[in-house]
Order: sequence, then structure tokens, then C-alpha cells
Amino acid sequence: MTVGRCLCGAVEWKLDGDLQFITHCHCSRCRKTHGSAFATYGMIAESSIGCVRGADRIEWFQSSKQFRRPFCRDCGSSTMADPWNGLVGVPLGLLEGDPGARPIGHIFAGSKASWLEIGDDLPASEGWPPGFDGPELDDYPDRGTSNGCGGSCACGAVAYELGGVVTACKNCHCQRCRKARAAAHASNLFTTTEAFRFKSGEELLSRFALPEARRFSQVFCRDCGSPMPSVSAEGGRVCVPMGSLDADPGARPTEHIFVGSMAPWYSISDELPRHDGYPPAR
Ligand SMILES: [Zn+2]
Ligand SMILES: [Zn+2]
Ligand SMILES: [Zn+2]
Repeated sequence: MTVGRCLCGAVEWKLDGDLQFITHCHCSRCRKTHGSAFATYGMIAESSIGCVRGADRIEWFQSSKQFRRPFCRDCGSSTMADPWNGLVGVPLGLLEGDPGARPIGHIFAGSKASWLEIGDDLPASEGWPPGFDGPELDDYPDRGTSNGCGGSCACGAVAYELGGVVTACKNCHCQRCRKARAAAHASNLFTTTEAFRFKSGEELLSRFALPEARRFSQVFCRDCGSPMPSVSAEGGRVCVPMGSLDADPGARPTEHIFVGSMAPWYSISDELPRHDGYPPAR
């Protein structure tokens, strides 16, 4: 049996069966709603998964004609998807422990983030995983460069602009980031408050601060759950979830941090420096 929880722990699931069709999805809806480079979902029979706590904390965003995207209204974690043909999509980032099964490929690879290179040998397909009978999806609005080198949430209400100043860019594998993004890892770009501006929707932002952490918070759009940029409490620094970007920021992640907490079902396929915890002070 496997347990899944959102970042704040208000919502919890029990999974009692095998995950099938585990894939890394690069579609723009996954990137936006998770705020990550890609999302990793597995499918489980509807009868093998149950929400044991916090079902009333789940909020739904209609991301396409066919599907709604659920998220925890308290912390913004994406949660278990609507069932399709008796199967429920499980974001692996929420799982505690090892589900056993491993990803079998990349899907919607044609929509991948411009700043990401797929470096492993898993097969990549342009649509649903082979053998999975998913629906045809309507096109997602491409916001292109209308936000300069900025970004927006999935529903489009929150938009921001980046002035091109990038102070750091990294992939974080810590458990908090994995839960916050319900993904293999977070990809975060850092900029300065001077170079950053919300263009719209700032009043829709919710902030969840992890009570036991000195500083860890997730900022997200209340209407669609998409992780959004977080301005540090002391000011000066803004952390941008790269999945929310609408255009290529130019910068690329330069290192992996907290690799010591990496998801058991994930492996890194690039040559970037890896640090078990925080990067060494420089
Ligand atoms: Zn939560
Ligand atoms: Zn997707
Ligand atoms: Zn939104």
C-alpha cells in the first residue's frame, strides 16, 4: 500500500494497487498547473485508490473540455486527477515512499518547455502513452511572449513580467518541493524584486507557509492552483516556478540540489552538478 499527501497534509490518499502507464508529461497544462518542467503521472484503477482525508479541501479548475485539474485549496499542490475509463491519474510527487513501478516514457513531448532538454533514453510520444485511450484535447491558449520574458497561471488571471535579471536557476529535489509541485522536482528561477512585476491578478494569490519550516512557502493562484512567483518576506528575492513561464527565459537550471532526497522513481540524466543538500556557499 502507498500513501499520497499534499504539501500541507490536509488531503491524504491510500493506494492499494499497481500504478500503470507512468509517464513524464510535458503538456502545457501540466507545466502550468504544477509549475514544474514536466509532471509525472501514473494511472491506477479507480477502485484501488481512496481519499481518506480532506476531500473537502480539494478545489477544481476546468483546464479543458474533458478534464478538471484538482488542487489543495490550502497549499496549492495538484492532486489526483478526474477518472478516465476507470483509471485515476496520480501525480507521483505526492507519494510517500516507493510505488515500485517506474516511468515508461515521455508524453506530449512536442509541447515541452523550450528551456528543457530530454536527456534520458525513455521513448517520447506526441500524445497519450501508447495503449492508453485518452481523449483528443482542445488547444491550450499559447500566451507566447505577451508577458515579455514572463509568465502566467493556467487560468490566465495572474500574469507577471521578468526584467531579464536571473540570479540563480536550479532544480530542487527536496521532499517539500516535490510535494509543492506534485512532481519529480521543482525548477526555480530566481530574480530580484526590482526586475520583477505582477501585471495582473496579484489579489488572487494565496500563500501557504509550511509551519515547521524556517522558510518554505508556496504561492499559488486561488482559481487554478498554479504555483506562482514568491517574493521573499525579507524582500529582494523572487522565486519563479519555471513551469509558469510563457517564453524562454534564456537561463537554464545550472545544478541539482537536495539530490539526497530525490524521488526513488526518478533519476537524473544530465551532467549538471549535484548536491546532496544546499549548494556549497560561494
Ligand atoms: Zn494541502
Ligand atoms: Zn500533461
Ligand atoms: Zn489562475
